[in-house]
Amino acid sequence: MDLQERLNEVRSRIAAAERQAGRPAGSVQLVAVSKTFEADAIGPAIAAGQRLFGENRVQESQGKWPDLKSEHPDVELHLIGPLQSNKAADAVALFDVIETVDREKIARALAEEMKRQGRTPRLYVQVNTGLEPQKAGIAPEDAPGFVALCRDELGLSIDGLMCIPPAEENPGPHFALLAKLALKCSVEKLSMGMSGDYETAIAFGATSVRVGSAIFGAR
Ligand SMILES: *Cc1c(COP(=O)(O)O)cnc(C)c1O
Repeated sequence: MDLQERLNEVRSRIAAAERQAGRPAGSVQLVAVSKTFEADAIGPAIAAGQRLFGENRVQESQGKWPDLKSEHPDVELHLIGPLQSNKAADAVALFDVIETVDREKIARALAEEMKRQGRTPRLYVQVNTGLEPQKAGIAPEDAPGFVALCRDELGLSIDGLMCIPPAEENPGPHFALLAKLALKCSVEKLSMGMSGDYETAIAFGATSVRVGSAIFGAR
């Protein structure tokens, strides 16, 4: 299969999962995760109509996306990897959605940069649903308070929650937990599901799925 065929396959599986879950067609957005792939591998995905892309490193993205974005201004770039506060300025300048807000220091840095640059990327809070020590994200029990702090104290609007379930566990309970937290936090967007489990995530209410290897091939 070439990239176009893999992309079509993912799109039709998303559509089938939407139908099976009784959700409206088009209610799940596909974020194509292009990390580690060069611009010449990303171009064909853009040519095939893909517009939402995810990257996990600010610096790597700065090397390939400014040109691609100026050629295709309707591309929307999502930061899905951990963010350090010394990269907040670069992230605000380049990304349209930052999915990995997970602590007060980074939230403050983003608020400051958004004010300074007059740019307002949409923000999601990353939740460490499996409480994995090596993984970024706020603890589930701290999520509602953190979202409230972002909103009330820092004036940030938080659109959604994001999670990466532990690799070796059944992801369903993690997706269910994130959906429950979204209600508690009054956020509408749920970024969950990757190549191996995006259909499950759609069944649990994902509004966007982050799919890399099923589109671009193995990294
Ligand atoms: C790499 C990555 C993905 C995509 O993973 P695949 O298994 O290749 O689909 C999704 N989300 C995050 C946060 C990632 O870092």
